[in-house]
Amino acid sequence: RGQDPGEHPSVTLFREYLRLKTVQPEPNYDVAVRFLERIAAELGLGCQKVEVCPGRVVTIMTWQGTDPQLRSILLNSHTDVVPVFEEHWTHDPFEAFKDSQGNIYARGAQDMKCVSIQYIEAIRRLKAEGKRFPRTIHMTFMPDEEIGGFKGMQLFVKRPEFQALNIGFALDEGLANPTDTFTVFYGEKCVWWIKIKCEGN
Ligand SMILES: [Zn+2]
Repeated sequence: RGQDPGEHPSVTLFREYLRLKTVQPEPNYDVAVRFLERIAAELGLGCQKVEVCPGRVVTIMTWQGTDPQLRSILLNSHTDVVPVFEEHWTHDPFEAFKDSQGNIYARGAQDMKCVSIQYIEAIRRLKAEGKRFPRTIHMTFMPDEEIGGFKGMQLFVKRPEFQALNIGFALDEGLANPTDTFTVFYGEKCVWWIKIKCEGN
C-alpha cells in the first residue's frame, strides 16, 4: 500500500481502518469486526460480540479495572460512514491517501474513525506504560449510526450485555472545529428533548 516506512504506527493503523469500506448503505461490517478482534487480541483486551440483529454486530473491547465493582467508562464510536460522490474527491475516499503535508484523505477521517483509533492507541500506550486504573474501560463499536442507530445502539442499550457493562460515564464523537478550540457536546443530569406543537388561529 506504499506505506511510509517512517510513519507512526498509530497513523498506519488509522489508515488501515479508513480503507475498510464500512460505507452506507451496505457497509462491510464483517471486515471491521475482524479488524477490531485482531486489535483486541494484540492489546490483550477482552472482546465480546453482540449481534443485536442479523448482520449487525456490536463489538466490545474491555480493559478490566483494578476495582471492577465501580461503574465503568465507556468509549463509544460508530464504525459506519456516510456515502460518497467519488467524482468530487481529490483522492479515492477509501484509499486513505496521505499528502506531503500530512493530510489524510478518507471518508471517515473525521467522522469518526479517527476517534476509534485514538481510543485504541491511547489504551495501547497506557497499557504499555504499565498503567492500571480502578475503573474498567469499555470500548464499544456500533454499526448503523449514520442511518439512525435503529439496528445498532438503539437495540444494544436494551440488551443484558449492555446492562452488564455497568457504565458510569460515556464518551462519543464531537465535531471538528476550524479554530484553536475544541467542540464538546455538553449534557448533564438527563437528556430533555421535547416536542412542542402550537396550533394557532
Ligand atoms: Zn459520526
